[in-house]
Amino acid sequence: QLSSVREPLFAAYSTGQVLKVKRALADPKLYKVVQCAPAIRVSLAEEFGLPMGTLTPGKMASALRRLNFDRIYDTNFGADVTIMEEGSELIGRVLSAERLPMFTSCCPAWVKYAETEAPELLEHLSSCKSPMQMVGALVKTYGAKLEGVDPANIYSVAVMPCTCKEFECSREEMEVNGHREVDVVITTRELAQLIKDAGIDFVNLPDEPFDSPLGKYSGAGSIFGVTGGVMEAAIRTGYELITKEKIPSLQLDFIRGEEGVRTAAVQVGKLELKVAVVAGLKYVGGILKQVQEGTCPYHFIEVMACPEGCVSGGGQPKLLLETLRKQAYQARKSSVYRHDHQQQVRKSHENPAIIKLYEDFLGEPLGHVSHNLLHTAFHSRKRTASHSHSNVKED
Ligand code: SF4
Repeated sequence: QLSSVREPLFAAYSTGQVLKVKRALADPKLYKVVQCAPAIRVSLAEEFGLPMGTLTPGKMASALRRLNFDRIYDTNFGADVTIMEEGSELIGRVLSAERLPMFTSCCPAWVKYAETEAPELLEHLSSCKSPMQMVGALVKTYGAKLEGVDPANIYSVAVMPCTCKEFECSREEMEVNGHREVDVVITTRELAQLIKDAGIDFVNLPDEPFDSPLGKYSGAGSIFGVTGGVMEAAIRTGYELITKEKIPSLQLDFIRGEEGVRTAAVQVGKLELKVAVVAGLKYVGGILKQVQEGTCPYHFIEVMACPEGCVSGGGQPKLLLETLRKQAYQARKSSVYRHDHQQQVRKSHENPAIIKLYEDFLGEPLGHVSHNLLHTAFHSRKRTASHSHSNVKED
């Protein structure tokens, strides 16, 4: 009964977002750029009757091009940038033993929860913007420069697995040089609606590539779509940056799994890095309490609000039966890992497009340009608080 009440409400919301995108796509003055989250390419096909978890990055890129987007970029590229920035931030904090543990900051539902429930701990969140916002900021700076386009004419669309991302893109601070980093967010289901409304035969589309350079990603970038993916990607890069040696195995099974909280100790050179992965906000309370009491043993903690990570986000194709839903999550997760295996480059710091981004534009991780474009501060949203806290950026 509850779902029959929610559905019409969602449809009304959905129509507004889809209409905005349709209007932009029909406007010849706008330079239309799109990015898709890692979890979209493993679920979109379900909206067109294909088996659960069918992997369709090529058809997705192809459909977006036929919808009239000028550039098909990718949030996975932003995930690789996140690893460069967040990994460097973690190394700095571990070496200085400051503001530990460090929490991930790429899930806006978790960030908002922390701002509301534990504002005194905000300095423990990574200052990194999410991969979506990083791509948004780079599209209207680096991308605009490469394409010779006025950023004021760029319309930046993001296809995301949940509506929390719309909230994130509308946060006041998510702007670059006076332009919104991301202009509008639509969900997987809304992208499917756009494709259907345009009469595109998704199932029979040819595979097409994403555009360079902001559409080129590593396997590490693609696993951000599942719980534990950010941690696994960060360890792949962190291990090699710290030890200057190849990581023995790219498949970190001790991070993968379904439990609400998973923990591990990883030997990284002389350091025993203690990590935790939290899947679902109902499991984060115990860890926050440990941090408040100064007894938390971990260095790095990934938190995702959804039980399986973004493959199970609220904007993904809907399955009303719980057994089918679980089946779909498993199939999407397997596809995410399969996609990682398909990539020639599986570590963020080895992605040639990332290396070039730092050489030509950003300089170095946590450098001045990165600091201005890719990092942010979070603020208390506690209603009863007499004063606000923030992890204010350091200049
Ligand atoms: Fe959105 Fe869920 Fe992914 Fe968080 S985990 S970004 S709420 S889909």
